[in-house]
Amino acid sequence: MLAIQNLTKTYANGVRALDGVSLDIPRGMFGLLGPNGAGKSSLMRTLATLQEADSGTATFDDGNGGTLDVLRDKDAVRRQLGYLPQDFGVYPKVSALDLLEHFAVLKGLTDRKQRRETVDGLLRQVNLWDVRKRKLGGFSGGMRQRFGIAQALLGNPRLVIVDEPTAGLDPEERNRFLNLLAEIGENVAVILSTHIVEDVTDLCPNMAIMNKGKVLLTGRPADAIAALEGRVWRKQVAKDALPEYEKNYLLLSTRLVGGVPTINVLSDERPEDGFEPVVPGLGDVYFQRLRQHAKAA
Ligand code: ADP
Repeated sequence: MLAIQNLTKTYANGVRALDGVSLDIPRGMFGLLGPNGAGKSSLMRTLATLQEADSGTATFDDGNGGTLDVLRDKDAVRRQLGYLPQDFGVYPKVSALDLLEHFAVLKGLTDRKQRRETVDGLLRQVNLWDVRKRKLGGFSGGMRQRFGIAQALLGNPRLVIVDEPTAGLDPEERNRFLNLLAEIGENVAVILSTHIVEDVTDLCPNMAIMNKGKVLLTGRPADAIAALEGRVWRKQVAKDALPEYEKNYLLLSTRLVGGVPTINVLSDERPEDGFEPVVPGLGDVYFQRLRQHAKAA
């Protein structure tokens, strides 16, 4: 279990990227959901020991009954950590097999035979075995991300951090990638940062919503959704009536359905004629929290 308390970080330009972040992150998939600029990457990089926080604490159980101070015991944390950064770059002219082997050496897997077994096993696990001898430059985005996961899993980490890994993947690749993460999450803590609601809905038993350096909500997606049961209403409206609805109601979202603007509104009762109740989703939870936060600010 990773326990984060009151983490703050203000960059030299005055941006407060982390503003008192507290989170408990158990084993399994943990979805960290928030819009661009919410502070997700800042939190990921801090937990990955790549940057310093100004204040706060983060502790992680070391697997032997002890506790690691994530912000201080950096070397020990790195040994337990797998990290896939947002801008994971690969050497385009090197094969998947050779680069993973290279990373394995860097990770300290010195025994040649053992290293080969680990590398082969990981390439199979992420489904790149058949293309292991191909150059990474010819890989699709999804294949590259799966390679990124393979390198993150070197050394059997107990904490895996993946920063916005599904951005830019097509739906099929995204599914494949998320399923792979879910498998990994059966044994270790996986923190998945994303701005895509659907990444979290089906796969993450626990999650948090962040905005502007703050945690707006943390818990189980199903519980958060249940709290909106019977309070979300939908209506198709004329485009020029939108500003009026925005003014009068707590508008969660506007989507085009068959070309017609369709709004979701939060209300304890039917707002007016023409509104139909809808089964809420995590998207409604997400927008509710963001709207509330924007109003409070
Ligand atoms: P997210 O990953 O949720 O998009 P980030 O952690 O990248 O959020 O960014 C949070 C805020 O901090 C943003 O306003 C961003 O512009 C700012 N920020 C991020 N990194 C730096 C940096 N190295 N120096 C200055 N500001 C930064």
